[in-house]
Amino acid sequence: MKFKKIVDVLEELEKTGSNNKMRDILADFFQDCPDSDLKQATYLLAGRISSEYRGVVTGMSDKLVLQSVAKASGRDLKKVKKIFRKKGDIGETAEELIGRRKEKLSVKNVFEELNEIAEASGEGSQDKKIISLAELFKKVSSKEAKYIARLVVGTMRTGSGDKTILDALAVAFTGSADARKELDKAYHVHPDLGYLAEKIAKRKLKGIKSVGISFKRPVKAMLAQRVKSFDEIFRKIRGKMAVEEKYDGERMQVHVKGDRVKLYSRRLEDISSQYPDVIKAVKKQIKCDSCILDGECCAVDDKGRLLHFQVLMQRRRKYNVEKYVEKIPVCLFLFDLLYLDGKSYLQKSYPERYKALKSVVKKQNNKLKLANRIVTRDKEKIKKFFNRMIKKGAEGVLIKSMADDSVYKAGTRGWLWIKWKKEYAEGMMDTFDLVVVGGFKGKGRRSYSYGSLLCAVYDTKSKKFDTFTKVGSGFTDKQLKELPKKMKKFKVKEKPKSVNARKDMKPDVWFKPSVVIEVLGAEITKSPLHTAAGGLALRFPRFLRYRPDKSAKQATTVKEIRQMK
Ligand code: AMP
Repeated sequence: MKFKKIVDVLEELEKTGSNNKMRDILADFFQDCPDSDLKQATYLLAGRISSEYRGVVTGMSDKLVLQSVAKASGRDLKKVKKIFRKKGDIGETAEELIGRRKEKLSVKNVFEELNEIAEASGEGSQDKKIISLAELFKKVSSKEAKYIARLVVGTMRTGSGDKTILDALAVAFTGSADARKELDKAYHVHPDLGYLAEKIAKRKLKGIKSVGISFKRPVKAMLAQRVKSFDEIFRKIRGKMAVEEKYDGERMQVHVKGDRVKLYSRRLEDISSQYPDVIKAVKKQIKCDSCILDGECCAVDDKGRLLHFQVLMQRRRKYNVEKYVEKIPVCLFLFDLLYLDGKSYLQKSYPERYKALKSVVKKQNNKLKLANRIVTRDKEKIKKFFNRMIKKGAEGVLIKSMADDSVYKAGTRGWLWIKWKKEYAEGMMDTFDLVVVGGFKGKGRRSYSYGSLLCAVYDTKSKKFDTFTKVGSGFTDKQLKELPKKMKKFKVKEKPKSVNARKDMKPDVWFKPSVVIEVLGAEITKSPLHTAAGGLALRFPRFLRYRPDKSAKQATTVKEIRQMK
């Protein structure tokens, strides 16, 4: 199939704002798509060049793509940059300047060339990438160049997301959107749209139901709900519960097969190379043929005492890993098991999964241990445990159902797990993970930085970021100083399509929704200024920290803040 077909669909998608229309456009395409192109076409339509969990990216920023545009078009780089500043979009810039060729390339050609660009690494790779992309630009039409440029930087701007693609696959191959529920389940266990497209195309619903869990294929993490009062926990969870320490670190999914170990983050990135010490501990202390474990990795001092999340974040690095392994030791706290020796445990109850987890952990020490927990339903005992955890510096506790139906709900924030944090107990509101979408310039003593950041929550239905509050306090002087530099690369000319703000909301700068910050808030009130849940706003927000482990779509959702109101 010609790549032009994909371009036609992307163009159509861009023209409509209606989710239903987008679904129908995609479903029509999928029905006509030859089997041999389906996988790659699905990735490209989702704005990717691989599955979500493999997360292959070209590693090219707008700046590098502009250099390719200059090379391919023979224009002066300064002029290219000027046009980019005027347009504010890399795709439109490429479209204007290059690509007078006829559409000859196939889906396969484009997909493979983009993956080759992604593969270039090490010394001189930037130049290689620039040249390869320039060569590709020389072979395509201007419309094709527009979407290739966007694919390369990873911002498709069509407004359709993974959910619309899942809807479209359901409609195209089963005739109705009813299959979405099964598709969602399969997607959480195997987040790979291309793979699912092939499965549903070949074997319809049966194919989707057969999707399982396996080594090196991370599963979306199960998440916890929040409650407004301590007593509410007991209305939501019946029977005995496991009350566990809530660790303030990085979620880690551990895959073991023979002597091979892989580690994945909450965003499903392969983080194995950052944690050779964890891999060593797993090899020594976990005994089984194969398993998939869930836990939280925290920075610890030499006595095994927990250190702050910010300390752990220094371990997020490509270089000098060994030095930081020494400098910042970590401990992996395990609390769940999803797979053991060829069998999925996702549908088993928490007590069964925990029993299996215990059976594979052969040794516990300051490098790897089971999460701290008690099993009870006694309110006083839970309060005591909670207070003990807070005293030692934990964020709070996680309370987990142990009922027969306490399955592992991959990718779902349900009532089987509830978080109870210090802030709720103190009568304060919760913390929120908000997406920075705009900035107001600072005045007076703050003129060197932003005075406040416009922040949003995510609406999973409309797939938009709704503004929720302006955050101006809680930053240290150092953080304020670094803020303009940190946010610079996310600046965009106009309000992004994916941001839903009132017309009169006019920050000095708009940002592409990317950076997530954790914010403590005192109260949610009605407000005419913001769009979240039809006009809810967070009062007295305070910046706590950056959350580089969360993507924009993993921010607090509109549904969550509605529940909290
Ligand atoms: P939050 O990020 O506030 O929604 O809290 C949920 C997160 O707490 C999970 O994604 C885990 O990364 C983390 N966590 C810490 N301790 C535990 C635990 N014992 N069980 C489950 N999740 C935990």
